[in-house]
Amino acid sequence: MGSLQALIQDLVIANRILAREDVVDAYGHVSVRNPDNPHRFLIARSLAPELVGPDDIVELDLDGEPVRDDGHKLYLERFIHAAIFAARPDVMAVVHAHAEDTLPFGIAEATKLRPVIHSGSFIGANVPVWDIADKFGDTNLLVTNMDQGRDLAKCLADNNVALMRGHGFASAGRSLIEVVRMSVYLPRNARALLHAKQLGGEIKYLRQGEIDARNRGYSPYSTETWRAWEYWANKAGCSHMLTKPDAHGHDHKHDHKK
Ligand SMILES: [Zn+2]
Repeated sequence: MGSLQALIQDLVIANRILAREDVVDAYGHVSVRNPDNPHRFLIARSLAPELVGPDDIVELDLDGEPVRDDGHKLYLERFIHAAIFAARPDVMAVVHAHAEDTLPFGIAEATKLRPVIHSGSFIGANVPVWDIADKFGDTNLLVTNMDQGRDLAKCLADNNVALMRGHGFASAGRSLIEVVRMSVYLPRNARALLHAKQLGGEIKYLRQGEIDARNRGYSPYSTETWRAWEYWANKAGCSHMLTKPDAHGHDHKHDHKK
């Protein structure tokens, strides 16, 4: 199997995991940059993530336009991905979803969404909130063109996650595994914080030093990282599609710890 085919398989697995873990439902999407051409990325055609197979993957450019016009209906909000890939050369994979537990933090200004549990550390210390109305006034809240996508990417800046007011979130990672893991733990971190708020009193967020310590211990293809990917893929019914990292041609020299 070629490395691009393996990447397409991984993208299918990512779709299925995000569906199984309730991060996406009929809506929401995940994309990965083409490692052979950084000006292009792979994403499913307009389809619920749970139903995505290898034949549903299309290639788009950094304006969100299809590289080959094969008549597929595309996601309306593909511009989220195009704009983030364009603005952030370090980002290799993007998720956009509407996960319910993240929504209160895009609406209520009193409490910021920040890491409160160890697995939530990956979302980063700062999670900005993007409000489409600030620049675009009354819209249907969807990101339907590059202008809106670029404005969102600007708000994301060099953070890992941006919340989208009244809508959902966009997350950006250095690999598919990383962005999926971040997107799975983001709503769980949000849920823990919501429950803690109900108990009352002061909230103890993760300290910056703790977030840094967690990041230092992260390696994208370590046994521990792979263990979660394998677990989630199995749970999502697609363990048969797994390719071990070494079979991807991942060079361990390229493993880096942030
Ligand atoms: Zn959306």
